[in-house]
Amino acid sequence: METLEFKNGWLNLKDEQIEAINHFCKNYKHFLNIGKTERQCVKAAIKEAEQHGFRPINEFEELKAGDKVYFINRNKNVVLTVVGKRPIRDGIRYVVSHIDSPRLDIKPNPIYEKSELALMRTHYYGGIKKYQWASRPLALHGVVVTKSGRTIDIAIGEDPQDPVFTIPDLLPHLDKKVQRERNAAEVLKGEELQIIVGSIPMEFEDKKIKDKVKHHILTKLHEKYDFTEADFISAELMLVPAGSARDVGIDEGIVGAYGQDDRICAYTSLEAILDIETPEQTAVCFLVDKEEIGSTGSTGLESRYLEFFTGELLVRQAGDKYNDQMLRRCLWNSYALSSDVNAGLNPLFESVHDAQNASKLGYGLVLTKYTGHGGKVASNDADAEYVASLRRIFDDNEISWQTGLLGKVDEGGGGTVAKYLAHYGINTIDAGAAILSMHSPFELASKFDIYELYRAYKAFYIQAF
Ligand code: MN
Ligand code: MN
Repeated sequence: METLEFKNGWLNLKDEQIEAINHFCKNYKHFLNIGKTERQCVKAAIKEAEQHGFRPINEFEELKAGDKVYFINRNKNVVLTVVGKRPIRDGIRYVVSHIDSPRLDIKPNPIYEKSELALMRTHYYGGIKKYQWASRPLALHGVVVTKSGRTIDIAIGEDPQDPVFTIPDLLPHLDKKVQRERNAAEVLKGEELQIIVGSIPMEFEDKKIKDKVKHHILTKLHEKYDFTEADFISAELMLVPAGSARDVGIDEGIVGAYGQDDRICAYTSLEAILDIETPEQTAVCFLVDKEEIGSTGSTGLESRYLEFFTGELLVRQAGDKYNDQMLRRCLWNSYALSSDVNAGLNPLFESVHDAQNASKLGYGLVLTKYTGHGGKVASNDADAEYVASLRRIFDDNEISWQTGLLGKVDEGGGGTVAKYLAHYGINTIDAGAAILSMHSPFELASKFDIYELYRAYKAFYIQAF
């Protein structure tokens, strides 16, 4: 009789398996270092995909088995497809993960001067614990698009020679009245998330200019990056923790880095699709944006982009026979892994988890039947039949997997893109990795799990149900 027992994946690994894990994670850390924003992740994914023979969709008039195709949506989504042996209309295997992460966005009119320091105002993006962002080096990434349509790429603070930015926190000697009594969510308030961008005043010929530090910074920005204060309005600039992904612990079993939610799933599913040849069913790796703020907007999963690109695939195979019902049928007969992270059992705060149902670092891919909050509200609750199929696929391929839930009943909760996939009738389940310190500037994931995710996604793409 089969009993339910999950095992720590590090036990009984052969030397060559450990070597494969370390090799894979080295490349993963590099991806995290060069992909700190959704736009950068799209660029990195496309570069690798092209090296593996993927071509943009507009180069294909017809699609046949084995074709490797990509789509880019507004530089913030990428879709990689390997066309299967069976007709696309029979259904698709989607792995969907997100490449946006919590951060601080620069406001449209950000810069001002106070106490002879130049500062920029921000608005946080996604669910952060605001206090974690003070008194640490931050890097500025993004694009500025000038009125004439010129796009300027900005990345300041990653090169050790670069300056960084920081939010000046209050010293403990003086925080008694204004800060110490605040609750944890307000240790730093939203409007206090401001960074120092300059400190040196400059004399101007125009004596009307009072803010000598601010205008010095604007002068520098103009000289060095060729944009003006007005151009901040048409920019997407964001602050992320500066620095590189690191190994954590004497045994180096954990990767610590910003943005592993959800680039851990993005990278592993990307590598999986790059490594497959003609599968039975068409395989799709879909990297989306805006998950952290509710999947809204034209680059979030609530948009109809999934329908749009799936239609583009179908019409190139079905030609004149294409119709809307074919698209709807294809979607309804498809399977998806809504690939996102889960809360790993935290030894310091075990009480928030139901330990029996919590995911753990080092136990492999996490299958999360449902998410949501209080009474499963707003969750996609995966069908038992689909969960059973996945158990079979992963067991057949000797892939370590475990189940996970996001905390105890009524402890809190959260959601993913799963419900937006299920909306089309796509068979959907949440699947991903256990993470510690989720949404912090330094998230933790087990190297064993990182590699196992890659193996799991590959099996999902190629194994028949
Ligand atoms: Mn996520
Ligand atoms: Mn998240």
